[in-house]
Order: sequence, then structure tokens, then C-alpha cells
Amino acid sequence: MFDLAARGTTARDWHRRLTVAGLDAELVTVPEPQLTGWIEALPPAFGELASRRHVGWRVAAVGPEHAVLALRACAVEAGLMDAELHLHADRRTHRRVYCPHCGATTLAAGDRFRCAGCARTLLVHDHVSLSSGRYLGSVDTPDAAPGAAR
Ligand SMILES: [Zn+2]
Repeated sequence: MFDLAARGTTARDWHRRLTVAGLDAELVTVPEPQLTGWIEALPPAFGELASRRHVGWRVAAVGPEHAVLALRACAVEAGLMDAELHLHADRRTHRRVYCPHCGATTLAAGDRFRCAGCARTLLVHDHVSLSSGRYLGSVDTPDAAPGAAR
């Protein structure tokens, strides 16, 4: 169970209920200042964690959307199925955005941002890949804005 800088008590409440029921539940708390570094280190760390678990293992997470999506992507990569995931995004502060021009992932706070890889100014689209946990970016042009007249 992951409390990813969650604003409420949901993860702690879930953990308490499972513990009271006598179930084995581990609560991992990631404070807000460590969240970005935690996400960057997540793919190998989650793979290692998953390799030590058995069939029937469940993952629950609460926190900002970009962190929950990143965790979901790692869980699916490790072989977990949607039925084994209980995820709740409690807010959107940033979006992890994929740049199709250079392949970089940038943590963007707004709809337009500078790609961390190629420095192009990109526009964030509503399309999110659940397999990678990233939104799609494209070069910001007047015609690229979502809903722009064509
Ligand atoms: Zn780029």
C-alpha cells in the first residue's frame, strides 16, 4: 500500500482496516518532497519488490495522478492485472508527458512546457497511456491546441 503524498487519510485508513482484519499489509509513505525522485527510481525498485511477492499480492495507492499513473505502469510491467490494483488519484498537480520527438519524459505543471530532452515547447494532450503512465505531448503550434478549429 502506497501513500504517495496523499492529502487525506485514505491510505492509512485502508492499511488500518487490513491490519485489524489480520491481513499482511505494508504501508509505504512517500512525502511530497521525495515524490519526484521516488517516481524516477520506481521502475527498478518496483520490479525488485514485485519479484519477492507471491500470487495474490495486491497493490493500493493514493496520491497525485502522475504518481499513481507511474506506479500503475510499473505494476503492470511487473505482471499485475487491473484486478490486483486499487488506485486513487486525489489530485492533479503535474502530468508526466512523453515527447514523441526525442522520447523524453517531462514532469509538466501546465498545458505548455519545455521538453526536458529536446527543449521544444510542447503542448499536453488529453491522451494518456495507461501502460506508460504518461500523457502525450506535441510541438506547440496554433493548430495543435486541443479543440482548435481546422
Ligand atoms: Zn523532446
